Amino acid sequence: MADYRFAKEKLADVLSGLTDYKVFAPTVTGDVVRFLEVADPAQVSLDYTNSNVPPKELMFPETETLFRYRLGQNEFDATVPSPEEKRLIFGIRPCDAQAYSIVERLYRWDFNDPYFVNRREGATLVGLACADPCANCFCPSVGGGPASEKYLDAIMFDLGDTVYLKTITDRGDAVAKALSSVLEPAGDSEKKAAEKQADDALSKIQRSIDTAGIPEKLPSLYDHPFWEQFSDRCLGCGICTFLCPTCHCFDIQDECEAFDGRRARMWDTCMFAEYSVHASGHNPRPTRKERTRNRIDHKYSYFPTKFDVIACVGCGRCINYCPVNIDILDILEKSKEAQVKEEKTA
Ligand code: SF4
Ligand code: SF4
Repeated sequence: MADYRFAKEKLADVLSGLTDYKVFAPTVTGDVVRFLEVADPAQVSLDYTNSNVPPKELMFPETETLFRYRLGQNEFDATVPSPEEKRLIFGIRPCDAQAYSIVERLYRWDFNDPYFVNRREGATLVGLACADPCANCFCPSVGGGPASEKYLDAIMFDLGDTVYLKTITDRGDAVAKALSSVLEPAGDSEKKAAEKQADDALSKIQRSIDTAGIPEKLPSLYDHPFWEQFSDRCLGCGICTFLCPTCHCFDIQDECEAFDGRRARMWDTCMFAEYSVHASGHNPRPTRKERTRNRIDHKYSYFPTKFDVIACVGCGRCINYCPVNIDILDILEKSKEAQVKEEKTA
């Protein structure tokens, strides 16, 4: 573990110095910030709150070919990424790095999904601490924090003209070594400024939820009418799941033209009616009430029951981008009120 700094105006030199890696960084295209492979360092920005699209797409692309085949032949060409490919995710927020660790539990569960797992194994995460968390962030309530180092190999703090970089793991040290011509040792002033920024950022977080008891009690509210108070206005657009860094459901489809085809998987969402339709035509989640309930129950009850961790990192994206202002914290608070009422009347 070591401390470094670089002048922010040298950001392009830092990115250009990472020649051993395929580098992905927050890139501005129009009004949208998302993590793209760095083609032009001038498009990379550290001045953003949370990327609009989470970097889950770097491990779990929106659409990806699993393999290609030719009808009538027994062989097929798998397109599995190599774990040897060194990828560097530069500027990832601590919450999005935590999300990788959550999704990984599923993709390493009963079968090691080589598409996700190989990408994750080859990845080094150089994080960027949040100085100004968004109005709907609640990461400390779900085990994170604006400067949490837990799931990172190195962390940067944007201190204005200077960036302070602290390595955390051997992979982080390897990045610092690769950048030895650009980095300088950090002084006490940068370390203190970073600590102050972390404390200030924590104090700026306005929203929170006490999650104690939620995973155990949510199933007892399965038929409670409070779900309809939220689902009645849901449009079923799926934004809350597509932009969630921990949502990981997919569909698999074959696309075939003449004799050549590919099997691909693509993001799917439990907020779509078709998602749960059985082959018989029966749909166990026929209305938005059941689908809203499933989204919350999955994140805050089913996933923690199975994998011992809540499948939410408190990034606030689902609240920020829902077109009808459905707010996961309001739903959870309402569920807690409903639990209290049920217990009193029992
Ligand atoms: S459920 Fe909402 S707040 Fe939680 S991780 Fe997903 S998008 Fe972020
Ligand atoms: S973003 Fe809002 S409206 Fe769209 S599916 Fe999610 S809860 Fe419903």
